[in-house]
Amino acid sequence: MDRGMGLQQKIDLLMSLAQDDHEGLPSRAPVPAGYRAGASPVTPRVVPPRLRHAAEVGALRPLNIRQLRYGAGVRTSLLRILMTNACSFNCHYCPMRRDRNLPRTLLKPEELVRIFLGAYARGWCEGLFITTGIPGRPVKVMDDLIQVLESLRERHRFAGYIHVKMVPGADAAQIERLTALASRISLNLEAPCGASLARIAPDKSFPAALTSLERARAQINTARLEERYGRPRDPLHPGGTAGMTMQFVVGATPDTDQGILNTVTALYRGGGIHHSQFSAFRPIRETPLESARATPALREHRLYQADHLLRRYGFDAGEIAYGADGNLPLGVDPKCAWALAHPERFPVEVRTASAEELLRVPGIGPATARRIVSERAGTTLRGLRDLRRLGVVTARAAGFVTLGGRRVQTLRWSEQLGFWGPEEEAGAYQLVYDVSPGTFR
Ligand code: SF4
Repeated sequence: MDRGMGLQQKIDLLMSLAQDDHEGLPSRAPVPAGYRAGASPVTPRVVPPRLRHAAEVGALRPLNIRQLRYGAGVRTSLLRILMTNACSFNCHYCPMRRDRNLPRTLLKPEELVRIFLGAYARGWCEGLFITTGIPGRPVKVMDDLIQVLESLRERHRFAGYIHVKMVPGADAAQIERLTALASRISLNLEAPCGASLARIAPDKSFPAALTSLERARAQINTARLEERYGRPRDPLHPGGTAGMTMQFVVGATPDTDQGILNTVTALYRGGGIHHSQFSAFRPIRETPLESARATPALREHRLYQADHLLRRYGFDAGEIAYGADGNLPLGVDPKCAWALAHPERFPVEVRTASAEELLRVPGIGPATARRIVSERAGTTLRGLRDLRRLGVVTARAAGFVTLGGRRVQTLRWSEQLGFWGPEEEAGAYQLVYDVSPGTFR
């Protein structure tokens, strides 16, 4: 890993790998002229004319490197590549929409492969995330995506993580092939129903998107089942078994959080979906929604928290607490909102409660609930310090639990928030942006 280079230098260097290479694809990418390990600044080779605007498009530039954390402290990094920011669709919320005046760039499949292998060979990333606009026919874009994955998997034998976003309008055979090669495949649903989608994305079809999702989902479920029954995993053809994701733009339509989460939970029931992505709407300059109000980032955050409750905490859709407007309260997290709406379930006695009961306490997650149940078999939990040691966020949990019949704190965390208004975190200012935060989700 080269720690001497800044992110922009790495990206400049990787972009230089997009130049035409008549000597074929390297299995270990060559180090461009001007690069010395640890040297700074780097003088990259000249990028091809087609990509000369790549540095002028801010967050829509073709490359990003992002650190991810998953599981217990496991970190990985993904090279996130936007294959092209050109698009023939005209979604009202999107910075890449057809009618918007914007420098456009495009990576050819072989360039994208070369860039990724260059970053991978240098230890800058362990996996790849590919998304793209749709210039021209969607089936051509899908063919390009398949070409990238076939090259990485079957020619260069890359067995690591690849997340790819399929595009609307893909045909069945393309979805099948892309899913077979990807670790994770995702789909932008954008809205929870067809009527809402038509308001903001006139070229897209909700039923067609659902058909694509169901095709990929059926394949993933089959692959997972076969693995469960003993078929060895083929790392070069993982079959999308890391699970799908689907993305929603939040706040660009009148849809409530309840409407969005109802659609999400209905889709989860069929299996094969890992999680949902929520992107708070931001008004983009020179789009039909330029003067619409930005959605608070906190609303997006609350949706992620509620989604977490549905997937990992055993909550049913009907248990999520909404305000009278059908949205999640901004001033309190969804788990705490549920706890406050159910005083009959509290306090929970930490020394005797089941793991399921502990999991309902704000400030106690699945791992902590399991740890409490296993630790208390051999020791007596006496106070806040013991709870903290086991991973309890005592500032949240203290008002909802007892230890040996005694409350450990009388005030609930949520009742101590009088000094802090949700609009402070939600963002009181109206900004107009050039890019959307959801571009790389
Ligand atoms: S959301 Fe996707 S399909 Fe719609 S304009 Fe943007 S890039 Fe094109």
